[in-house]
Amino acid sequence: MATLRYEILALRYAHFADRTQGTNLIFPDDHAAPMPLDFFVWAIRGEGRTIVLDTGFDAASAARRNRIWLRSPIDALRRHGIDPEEVRDVVLSHMHWDHAGHWDSFPNARFHLQKAEMAYCTGSCMCHEPLRRPFDVEHVVQAVRHVFAERVTFHDGTVELAPGITLHLVGGHSGGLQIMRVPTARGWVVLASDATHFWANIRRRNPFTLLHNLERMIEGWVTCERLADGPDHIIPGHDPLVTARFPAVPGDADTVQLHLPPAA
Ligand SMILES: [Zn+2]
Ligand SMILES: [Zn+2]
Repeated sequence: MATLRYEILALRYAHFADRTQGTNLIFPDDHAAPMPLDFFVWAIRGEGRTIVLDTGFDAASAARRNRIWLRSPIDALRRHGIDPEEVRDVVLSHMHWDHAGHWDSFPNARFHLQKAEMAYCTGSCMCHEPLRRPFDVEHVVQAVRHVFAERVTFHDGTVELAPGITLHLVGGHSGGLQIMRVPTARGWVVLASDATHFWANIRRRNPFTLLHNLERMIEGWVTCERLADGPDHIIPGHDPLVTARFPAVPGDADTVQLHLPPAA
């Protein structure tokens, strides 16, 4: 059991209803079965610090890509007492459009990225439409500007970001996807982001359709399982069951507390 204890909020800010098993899973049982996605940013608080994991997309991107934008993730953070202007550390799990917007909302933060992810989203793979489709070039340009402003910290594999909190390179879904391990009162929680979009991906060994490297995706699941204290300690990146199962912060049904046990 971890001795350091952080609290973790999952803040849901968008929804995508028009998805099925056929569009989400490489091995669907029923192609037409509805399988909607939710979109989150995560906040980790404790031991005198606040860390934001992923920054989400804005209303214009939601309209362009036909997602239902429930609220600004930046406003959602503010609502829970997190002032983006005071946040010192922002971790980007990866650079996909739905995770890596709002750079200017964090004027005093350092952005933490894996070297491999930056190389991927600025490299020759982006010459190919199917590979660049999940990226927004404006986010990538923002990342480059922040590199030149010395506001990006690059990691190459596993690193301790704060006491007890570690980042781990897994790749698989994107070239340099990283996950975060956090000690909480209920044990070690892994914020897996798109290492597993749904619990169904990791639990049924059924990969999401958007892939960089299938072997590394599967090895990433093994890494999640090694680092977490149990199946419910692995938090998927887009699963509507997250808000259904974990206790909400009173007054905000779209923000749930991952440091507390889920409902059965
Ligand atoms: Zn992604
Ligand atoms: Zn995603």
